[in-house]
Amino acid sequence: MMYPNWLSQRAYLNGSRMALSFGEQQWTFAELDGKALEYAGKLSAAGVTKDSRVAFLSKSHPRFVMLMYACLHAGCEMVMLNERLSKAELAYQLEDSGADFAFVDDVLADKIDSPRKMLFSEIDKKEELPFMPEPEWHSDRTISIMYTSGTTGNPKGVRQTAENHFSSAVSSALNIGIAPDDVWLCTVPLFHISGFSILMRSLIYGMGVRLHPKFDAEQCAYELQAGRVTHMSVVGVTLERILAALKELDLEVSPRFKVMLAGGGPIPTNYIHRAGSYGISVLQTYGMTETSSQTTTLQPDDADRKAGSSGKPLFLYQVQIGDAKKAGDIGEIHIRGPQVTPGYIGKFADREVQQEGWLHTGDMGYLDEEGFLFVVDRRSDLIVSGGENIYPAEIEKTLLAHPAVREAGVCGMQSDEWGEVPVAFVVLNAPAKADELLAHCREQIASYKVPKHLRFVDALPRNASNKLLRRELKTWDW
Ligand code: AMP
Ligand code: MG
Ligand code: MG
Repeated sequence: MMYPNWLSQRAYLNGSRMALSFGEQQWTFAELDGKALEYAGKLSAAGVTKDSRVAFLSKSHPRFVMLMYACLHAGCEMVMLNERLSKAELAYQLEDSGADFAFVDDVLADKIDSPRKMLFSEIDKKEELPFMPEPEWHSDRTISIMYTSGTTGNPKGVRQTAENHFSSAVSSALNIGIAPDDVWLCTVPLFHISGFSILMRSLIYGMGVRLHPKFDAEQCAYELQAGRVTHMSVVGVTLERILAALKELDLEVSPRFKVMLAGGGPIPTNYIHRAGSYGISVLQTYGMTETSSQTTTLQPDDADRKAGSSGKPLFLYQVQIGDAKKAGDIGEIHIRGPQVTPGYIGKFADREVQQEGWLHTGDMGYLDEEGFLFVVDRRSDLIVSGGENIYPAEIEKTLLAHPAVREAGVCGMQSDEWGEVPVAFVVLNAPAKADELLAHCREQIASYKVPKHLRFVDALPRNASNKLLRRELKTWDW
């Protein structure tokens, strides 16, 4: 199926509508489209074609949005790199993706050493070539690629096609509705599906985006009071901080504000109530990179009755529990729908992501008698720390790479500040100090993944087949 070019179409239909605002600046869809076309001319001068694959490493700001939109016009694929990753992790993703270019925000210049690197300021200096945008996009076109880790600790590049993004946006709209003057506050990273999907909704709905350079609870509280925004995406910790800021600053939330989408894990019922007292309605959602975000949603009316549930699938989607005989049986969560990725790139390109049309998520859960989904165990003992996902296997692999480490086990520990933080248990085969192992981690992995505590032990808990029992580790103390 062919779509009209979403940018050209939106500029044609609603050119004078607000598309993006940042600080005191704002752009209409026509202006943003104009900027994207200018940049597309520059990218074309740099050698980008519709067959290119380009990687981006950037902070959240309008120029990043314009460059991504230029790539949409050019028809190329975008690999979204996480600015918090270490140099070694970024080098791996750049290599695995085979990206032709790495476009890097000047302030992050040191994070990538590659002949393919081109700084944003260097793109700016290019002489624009005449450029004609692709008038139509095939629904199979890969728009974005995002890396996500799994049980093996090897990050896999997930493809998200135009159809994936389109059905994700439309399904969400069928659930929460859209109005011409909606504005989504984006404080989540643009390189994550949580942030990128806000841009996709903006184009598909004709909706404005209010962009913040990063999450700041006070700024969010003022934004909610000012009545400029109608929607926002949060995770548990950020919701809690916004509620605390609203209270601290003694602010009211504008009645213009409509909905918060809250993902990443169940939200404590008391947050939902506190949000409710400000008139904020919170929709808890379950989704992942492989499903271009939100797949199931719990309506606020059900929040008490179904506390801990992630709700029901959006209209276009189906959820099943593998091997479940009846309601309540726990099994692997399987998902089907047009939002599910067709597959991976790079090293995992040959791995089938769907089995008979169903995505096997690796998350465990059950459906209750009324069909509400409960996620009981996240895949590969995922740790969620301040909204960032941390896979224990990745940290264990890093620790094991140190010559003094014989065995390593990582699990999450409750943290008031971050929700959870990673902690490590290590069996040594040669003398070493904890500081030395942590310094080794800091060199290899992003700082938020570096264990907050490290304890030496004689043995790790393992089952009969010697598989590490991370859940048991969680019950060990310090
Ligand atoms: P990501 O692909 O980085 O967005 O991470 C997605 C993973 O986060 C899912 O596979 C789940 O393990 C976890 N997750 C997302 N939403 C929820 C939720 N509502 N409840 C429990 N786990 C969740
Ligand atoms: Mg192409
Ligand atoms: Mg992931």
